[in-house]
Amino acid sequence: MRRYFCLNAVFMLALMLLAGCGSSSLSRNEYTIATGSKSGVYYPIGETLAMILKTDYPDVQLKIIETAGSVENLQMLKDGKVDMALVQNDIAFYASEGEAMFNGSKITNVAGIATLFPEVVQFIVRKETGIKSLNDMEGKKIAVGSKNSGTYYNAQQILSLAGVWEKIDQQFIGGTDAMKEVQEGRLDGFIFTSGLPNPSIIELAKKVEISIVPVENELVQKLVNTHPFYYPSTIAANQYPGQTEEISAVEINAILVSGPTLSDDDQYLLTRHLFGKPNELGQSHPRLSKMTRNSLRRQMPIQTGKGAYRAHSEAP
Ligand code: GLU
Repeated sequence: MRRYFCLNAVFMLALMLLAGCGSSSLSRNEYTIATGSKSGVYYPIGETLAMILKTDYPDVQLKIIETAGSVENLQMLKDGKVDMALVQNDIAFYASEGEAMFNGSKITNVAGIATLFPEVVQFIVRKETGIKSLNDMEGKKIAVGSKNSGTYYNAQQILSLAGVWEKIDQQFIGGTDAMKEVQEGRLDGFIFTSGLPNPSIIELAKKVEISIVPVENELVQKLVNTHPFYYPSTIAANQYPGQTEEISAVEINAILVSGPTLSDDDQYLLTRHLFGKPNELGQSHPRLSKMTRNSLRRQMPIQTGKGAYRAHSEAP
């Protein structure tokens, strides 16, 4: 009888410790992450995260979901259809405030995990169109992103401020399809908010001559002053075949967020595992190479999740 009590006490103590500290193993063997189109950068970053997860948790799968981009990803998270998503920080902010495209349908059940890498709003056209400035896009057939992407809203904000948004022949086509149409000459150009360089744009530039249209300095200043998430940026020379000069642009940040289906404990373990060694993560994908312990917490426009916060605070 006495032995039974002792064992019981030990068991209770172990349970209490576990409850206090959180479990050290993930509660499921499959998680989902919403990314973007296969010709974007979110998708391969999702694959990188899945690979990293496998190193400590060989039985755990991170399933990559192809989507239209940030707006769709936030809707999926809200509805509990995915556990995590890569999204633009500007779009996550609009969702949390119920502004812009989320007007009247605020999303309050999404939490921040980490800030990952800058994404540059890229204006790509077929060289033969002769388009050299955003204003030259007037009357041209341009893919402005699918309506559920973050790209679409950047295109709208930037081209509206440039005074040309209503004057272009807007096509609501994203990533993969837009590049195919440009390659085949059915579109004059496309816009893509994506990490630099985007591997699919490199491939496109090998097949058809492209030009990258700059966001003139004056417009960059206007954008930075009127929209809180844009930063001045440049596309360094030779990021893309045939692009010999540096190009003025604007950027926002890509962040990793989670929805209501991810428990605090799982969020803690995933954050600790995925971002515990930012240097190693940096080596795994060029877009993540500038990540540091501090940059992971920078410019998070929504509330950081409890688990992620704990993991970041414990990091050495
Ligand atoms: N930032 C883009 C969007 O949300 C997706 C970019 C990518 O997949 O590289 O529309």
